[in-house]
Amino acid sequence: MSEENEWSEYAARLIADAGLRRSTPRQRVIELLAEQSCAITALQIDAALDGVGRATVYRAIEQLEELGLVHKVDLGGSAFGYEKLEPSGHHHHHIVCDDCGKVEPFEDEALEDAIHDIHRKGFKLETHEVTLHGHCADCS
Ligand SMILES: [Zn+2]
Ligand SMILES: [Zn+2]
Repeated sequence: MSEENEWSEYAARLIADAGLRRSTPRQRVIELLAEQSCAITALQIDAALDGVGRATVYRAIEQLEELGLVHKVDLGGSAFGYEKLEPSGHHHHHIVCDDCGKVEPFEDEALEDAIHDIHRKGFKLETHEVTLHGHCADCS
């Protein structure tokens, strides 16, 4: 099963378990988030989902965040994006250009190992977020 479908099904299950009724606007937000390979802002979600309405989009994002299905990503400045949290724990981190706001995802096994070493030193880690800031090739 692709991660995209896996996440959508996981989302449907958590929503049902939480006793929330199925809503078409929320379902459209879920489908859009499922297709993304990286973070997308609330404004981008709103723009992509014509006819849903901004308040509804924001409420849906908030619910998905509360359910632990998406997490907020710091995109530098005061910008935030949202991206799905895979049930497998598979994830990536971000490099942000502080000039133009471009965001590049990256994965680094050595970094993950280092983070899990901290775990072994007796601090119970739940989640982690790593965002690197700098200037992209176009801006530097
Ligand atoms: Zn991302
Ligand atoms: Zn990580």
